[in-house]
Amino acid sequence: MNNYLNITIMMWIGIISLFPKMFDAIKNYGITRQGIKKKLLQLDFCNPRDYVNNKYKIDAPIYGGGGIILKPEPLMKAIKEIKKKTKSKNIKVIYLSPQGKNINIKYIKTLLKYDFILICGRYKGIDERVIQYFIDEEISIGDYILSGGELPAMIVIDAVSRLIPGVLNNIASNKTDSFYNNGLLDCPHYTRPAIITNYSHVPDILLSGNHKKINDWKLQNSLGYTWLKRPDLLNKKKLNEKEKHLLKIFKKNFFNIK
Ligand code: SAM
Repeated sequence: MNNYLNITIMMWIGIISLFPKMFDAIKNYGITRQGIKKKLLQLDFCNPRDYVNNKYKIDAPIYGGGGIILKPEPLMKAIKEIKKKTKSKNIKVIYLSPQGKNINIKYIKTLLKYDFILICGRYKGIDERVIQYFIDEEISIGDYILSGGELPAMIVIDAVSRLIPGVLNNIASNKTDSFYNNGLLDCPHYTRPAIITNYSHVPDILLSGNHKKINDWKLQNSLGYTWLKRPDLLNKKKLNEKEKHLLKIFKKNFFNIK
């Protein structure tokens, strides 16, 4: 059960997939592994193959021709079974689909409010009746076609895991990541060594130890990089006077250097 406002979230995600082993990639590595280890994230799996007599009969030809899709009954059974693995009544059933709405950080944040089930299609997809009667939402990771819903599901799980309080430590904090907080891109980052021969060096301010100046530089470069790389984001944002001023100077310097 999730309780985003009280900052105690144990996120439950049910996954319906013919290839649950693919998810070892997120179970065994990185931030998602940390989330599972810290018991802040729980992944449960259900394979529709477990609900057919002959496990090779999970798909069937499309009426009217055009390939094969996953049969409806094993999927319906899998949805019913996986729901038993959470006590929550607030469960969203989501189908990963190129026909769904394109997702972004705003959508990912909304997922923190629910336990949810991700259904991974294969072949030409799934039976339309499952979509109509059992799915709350269809979501897409972009306007291109993948061979299955497993990679999109892993993308959703990784993105949402980063937002579960306690999954990331302070060093990996999401607060300054692109899109997250103020709708801007992250600023550029540098690390040791400060000088690499033949390449431009690290901006002096970042080595100055003056945190006020460093924070202003970061904000200015967030604004500047957003202006350069994603002006569409900047158009959606109302800048305060300080931000307007910092961006004006960034632009002036940019055009002077060019
Ligand atoms: N015939 C379907 C169509 O054109 O709408 C595409 C089927 S696709 C080959 C097989 C499965 O991959 C889909 O059922 C879906 O689960 C997943 N998939 C493919 N592209 C996706 C995308 N852009 N976003 C989310 N899921 C996707």
